[in-house]
Amino acid sequence: MARDCIFCRIIRGEVPAYKVYEDEKVLAFLDIHPSALGHTLIIPKTHEAQIERLSEEDARQLFTVLHKLIDKIQRVAGAGSSTIGINNGPDSGQEVPHVHIHVIPRPKGVRGGVIQGIAKMSIRPTEAEMRRIAELIKLS
Ligand code: 5GP
Ligand code: ZN
Repeated sequence: MARDCIFCRIIRGEVPAYKVYEDEKVLAFLDIHPSALGHTLIIPKTHEAQIERLSEEDARQLFTVLHKLIDKIQRVAGAGSSTIGINNGPDSGQEVPHVHIHVIPRPKGVRGGVIQGIAKMSIRPTEAEMRRIAELIKLS
């Protein structure tokens, strides 16, 4: 845990939060500046800024908790859909450098964008580039 990290402070109970779930590895609570009613943050109790730094076990439990909560979050918000995302690192706009999954309920008829619209790059890779990138990303 990090002394000055706001989410670590929430985990330690030094800062109040509207908690909705807690186990040994994971905590979930409402975002203080919600983008929609029910906007929830799911965090590992381990202080790491980016998802690739988490242990596989922590990453798995994070997704397990998302899977457990998602239906309830959506129903409470009167939504059948949600946007689920992680700002992973400072260049993504991440403000709190402690991994967190945003769960933003998306009630029918309420306007908003799609997650793939956040990066404003209009590139048209060639087929060769696509093939090369796919090969580079593949795990050996
Ligand atoms: P990000 O780091 O992904 O840009 O967003 C951090 C999120 O954490 C923001 O949506 C912000 O509203 C939320 N947040 C920041 N400080 C607090 C806090 O003290 N309590 C709670 N509940 N949420 C916070
Ligand atoms: Zn932290």
